[in-house]
Amino acid sequence: MRTRTNAEWQTLYHTRWKAPFAHLPKHVRAKLVRGCIGKAVYDSVEEALPVIAEMPARPGMYLKAYSCPLCGCIHIGNSRTPNTMPQRAIDPNKSIDAAS
Ligand SMILES: [Zn+2]
Repeated sequence: MRTRTNAEWQTLYHTRWKAPFAHLPKHVRAKLVRGCIGKAVYDSVEEALPVIAEMPARPGMYLKAYSCPLCGCIHIGNSRTPNTMPQRAIDPNKSIDAAS
């Protein structure tokens, strides 16, 4: 885990990260920025999972690790939905006939 100073973040944003998303409207880019600025940076989801286990989530929300489209690193954020990925994953041992 590491953090970025605000000056470091601003420099990286204006020199490297802003250009690929420059075609997006400002309010859409603001959403990307809110998911990245001021957040702790993790190199892998495995590194973030012990932190998620320790950290309390906002009331009624769930903590999740996500890959940041802006900087390409992993951040932790609050989500309204529980961890849906294992439920969405396709079980290779389960046939279509058994499910119905
Ligand atoms: Zn980021």
